[in-house]
Amino acid sequence: MPKRDYYDVLGVRRTASADEIKSAYRRLARQYHPDVSKETKKVAEEKFKEISEAYEVLADEAKRRRYDQLGFSGVESDFGPGGFTWQNFTHVGDLEDLLGSSPIFRQFFGGMGSPFGVGSRRVEARGQDVELSVRLPLVAAVTGARPTIEVPRTTACADCRGTGAKDGTALETCPECGGNGQVRRVQNRGFAQLISIGECPRCRGTGRAILERCPTCGGAGQIRSTARIELNVPPGIDDGAVLRVPGQGMGGRAGIRSGDLYVQIVLEPAAHLRREGADAYSEATAPLATALLGGEITIPTLEAQASLKVPAGTQPETQFRLRGKGFPRLPGSGRGDLIVTLHVELPRSLGSRERELVRDALGASPAAPSGRREPIWRRRST
Ligand SMILES: [Zn+2]
Ligand SMILES: [Zn+2]
Repeated sequence: MPKRDYYDVLGVRRTASADEIKSAYRRLARQYHPDVSKETKKVAEEKFKEISEAYEVLADEAKRRRYDQLGFSGVESDFGPGGFTWQNFTHVGDLEDLLGSSPIFRQFFGGMGSPFGVGSRRVEARGQDVELSVRLPLVAAVTGARPTIEVPRTTACADCRGTGAKDGTALETCPECGGNGQVRRVQNRGFAQLISIGECPRCRGTGRAILERCPTCGGAGQIRSTARIELNVPPGIDDGAVLRVPGQGMGGRAGIRSGDLYVQIVLEPAAHLRREGADAYSEATAPLATALLGGEITIPTLEAQASLKVPAGTQPETQFRLRGKGFPRLPGSGRGDLIVTLHVELPRSLGSRERELVRDALGASPAAPSGRREPIWRRRST
């Protein structure tokens, strides 16, 4: 496959800003994500690698400059002799919120060579992952949050230290595997003999068999428990993002690593705020006098209340744009705006003195006597 220009690969102009490059990459990454891609895995992998290489160069100011001046040869030395590999990719963090929930990407973040390669790695014995979701107020998108959550999990039985044997000592060498934790299975297939080696089912790979069961856990080595965990939700989190907490999933038996905890963040919509991308929309009401004469009113924002300066003569439904008071954009690129639509509250009734004053000041025609309706032409003529 001939190498394509990095700008073409990401579909951006040569003058594109860092933000534009980043969002183009994220859009394409979503498209070629192995869970959603309609392409075959192989094609999706190649495309994903191609956009990631382009992003690796264009997202880095120095690399981009060299590429602009010298083309591919300007960045050759950044990669190994065979060209770009996943080991060269330094921007995993830009995708974590998009892809963190995918099991395939978990392997990627766990240090696999490729996000797609499952390979023949020996499956490490570990506890199950736990997945749950937590609801947070919308403001957590700005401030971050540290909610304490309860996680149902299993932990090692304290009485037998996760061995399942009484006092943790009533163990003997496993008679099934002779203590090495593995068993050989031999199958005859015609002339061929198939030998496979797997975990010993009797001792579950530990090499030690239980003489007498632990009465606390019944020999399972683990007990059900609830862990209270303080979750660190960083500012800028998106609705639906998934956080990974390593080692807080199901755990327990001796010699087995705990699974991981995955927490999906659900941001509660706020009654007074509407979200459109990074911008927030809200409404506020000013008394008539404030709209006419100018003044300050208190408005709700994402974080807290703020005061809004209303200039004299403000018209009803005027929109005010508060820069940087919206939701965070992609990490590190600032915040959107808060757009406030201002309603003006008209008094429902006036006393006679107020009526007089308004009439004098604003030159309104005299009001019709109450209880009677007069045609407009007659009202004009008096
Ligand atoms: Zn065994
Ligand atoms: Zn026990």
